[in-house]
Amino acid sequence: MINFNVPPYTGKELQYIEQCVRAQKICGDGQFTKKCNSWLENKTGTKKALLTTSCTHATELAALLVDVKPGDEVITTPITFAASANCALYCGARPVFADINDKTYNIDPEKVKEATTEKTKAVVAVDFTGQSVELDALMAHCKKHNLVLIEDGAHVIGTKYKGQPNGSIADMTTFSFHPVKTVTGGEGGAVMTNNEEYYQKLLLARSHGITRDTAFMEEEPHGGWYYEQVSLGYNYRMTDIQAGLLVSQLDKLPMFSERRKEIVAKYNEAFLQIPEIQVQEEIPESDTTRHLYILRIKPDRLKINRREFFDALAAENIMCNVHYIPTYYFPHYQRLGYEKGICPKAEKLYDEMMSLPLYYGMTDQDAEDVITAVKKIVDYYKK
Ligand SMILES: *Cc1c(COP(=O)(O)O)cnc(C)c1O
Repeated sequence: MINFNVPPYTGKELQYIEQCVRAQKICGDGQFTKKCNSWLENKTGTKKALLTTSCTHATELAALLVDVKPGDEVITTPITFAASANCALYCGARPVFADINDKTYNIDPEKVKEATTEKTKAVVAVDFTGQSVELDALMAHCKKHNLVLIEDGAHVIGTKYKGQPNGSIADMTTFSFHPVKTVTGGEGGAVMTNNEEYYQKLLLARSHGITRDTAFMEEEPHGGWYYEQVSLGYNYRMTDIQAGLLVSQLDKLPMFSERRKEIVAKYNEAFLQIPEIQVQEEIPESDTTRHLYILRIKPDRLKINRREFFDALAAENIMCNVHYIPTYYFPHYQRLGYEKGICPKAEKLYDEMMSLPLYYGMTDQDAEDVITAVKKIVDYYKK
């Protein structure tokens, strides 16, 4: 059987965890937290990295920071994990869904323009599958309308847009280190930003709104023990144990990227020959470390639908997944009044796609087996 995803094992994990425990610094101010921060800042060329408990929390902090509040609107794509839109709901704002480009599957900057109103506060753009969103167009639009661009970069670590690493470009970019992602710390996330003022506010919001820095205090310190809560924040700090796991993986990211690119190239080469399948279009601006590989069927050329195709792959012992169910299809969003039909290209993509196995530890034989199974199903069921 070929699993959908197997998190990579680097061999350093236990050593780092042991170091962490022996140093008696296991919460978020130890050696590995510092290493993660400098890795993220240096390798992506971003001024500040703030580690968090998850990408969901990172995106929530980003939205809170720019004062997204009731009455505001936040534009995002429906082809994403629910967290991208939920960050608006946490703030009492309304997510507005803009349709995708049906070749790249990323949010269409033209649709973002159409969705912008005087209530729009921010855009949450998702680099779906790891391919960068069209940052130039989105940043120009956001600048013109005074919107904040939050890049939900849960898929994007390792990717470069026009030669510059994603993470260093948008107002804020959030990463995820959940085990299904390209690098993992068990759980975890980060906010990346070049804006020092944002960073100071994020730092406060991540830790209860509490500061020990006299520069940010309102009262005279009562003594050496003194700290102050100056706003209402949360506890969204990553532990040093998670950071240790993460460091072991970040160091291997170039290797993970290369391998993922090799597998994607094998898949592309095979599937571009099959007229019953549509391959995700790659934009030249994005040098992509792919987190997901989307197999999209052309239903008019096949006797079976996506569900049957998915089941046929499972019968061949190829474990797939579907990324994503459009966010506004979920009952919670339906109850909030979203209607089906608002993003037709996203809905059509949902009906036709599945995600194939893609992970660092896949062998060439595994990739061949996936390709063979896809070809077998297509040959059997093509019209
Ligand atoms: C995984 C994912 C998230 C959530 O990440 P967590 O770290 O699990 O909170 C958010 N957005 C996208 C696009 C994701 O794929």
